Amino acid sequence: MTWAPSRVVVTGGAGFLGSHLADRLLADGAEVICVDNLITGSRRNVSHLMANPRFTLRTDDVSGAWSVDGPLDAILHFASLASPVDYLRHPLETLEVGTLGTMNALRIAEEKGARFLLASTSEVYGDPTVHPQPETYWGNVNPIGPRGVYDESKRVSEAFTMAFSNARGVDVRIARIFNTFGPRMREHDGRAVPQFVTQALAGEPITVYGDGSQTRSLCYVDDLIEGLTLLLHSDYRMPVNLGNPQEVTMMQLAELVRELCGSSSPIELRPLPVDDPKRRCPDVAVALRQLRWTAMIPLDEALRRTIDWWPRGSTELDEATP
Ligand code: UDP
Repeated sequence: MTWAPSRVVVTGGAGFLGSHLADRLLADGAEVICVDNLITGSRRNVSHLMANPRFTLRTDDVSGAWSVDGPLDAILHFASLASPVDYLRHPLETLEVGTLGTMNALRIAEEKGARFLLASTSEVYGDPTVHPQPETYWGNVNPIGPRGVYDESKRVSEAFTMAFSNARGVDVRIARIFNTFGPRMREHDGRAVPQFVTQALAGEPITVYGDGSQTRSLCYVDDLIEGLTLLLHSDYRMPVNLGNPQEVTMMQLAELVRELCGSSSPIELRPLPVDDPKRRCPDVAVALRQLRWTAMIPLDEALRRTIDWWPRGSTELDEATP
């Protein structure tokens, strides 16, 4: 790795993935400026970094006017509402951060001559009809469904990113991130892993939507951060799937979480949310070929680490139900 960024902006740097990225960038020697309006991020995620002279948290909204003084080597655009519960609650903010926020971040990257890494998503594939999903698949998205605000905001983020690359010469990277979990997810985030762990530890019913046969491929956060770091440093400018190809049904996940928590919570079936994808699994051949990256941490070990970290004692899950 010859290219080494010394001053980096992470949008969404107080969020789940952004804060883990900030940790890694600081450990690698960079100065890190996190820009986060704290709509779903939290100061708690970066409280351990506040005393570091190479770390700054700014509470600007990246969808509004913002700028950065001085030189920048990279902008990592991670500001987004990533949980279905959050983007159903904040549909306009979700669209704004994917459109205005992405455009603003790209303009600053252009002005500074900084490398730009977009946190895109497996949701660009929608409810896929091709399994596993390669980067060449164009997706199956309902633009006017409840998930459309997130899926389309990420699809247009990719379009903005390619346009700034082609028309303005910005040096871009695009990570299509599949379901990822780990410490610092919020208890009330609403996504499957935090929901199931919180419920199992509280001895409450574990809420599986539909019949639980829908699948996801779950990646541990440490694996993902390694993949993102390799992508940032690589010369590969096309989208790359980053995820763990091990596919599990949501019923299997609920049962595994219950077992690892030593819980006797019942599993309760609830209605399946509208447009909930039936299967999702990354084709990781490009990541392997271009980055020499593959996820290493098995699901049970990743869940154990997450459960060890998880805060105990909260039982208020109602707000996370879509
Ligand atoms: N899910 C579930 N129970 C929950 C939360 C989620 O069965 O309490 C299901 C959800 O319907 C979806 C899968 O788990 O099929 C993954 O949902 P998540 O919100 O984690 O992410 P998505 O991949 O849908 O964005």
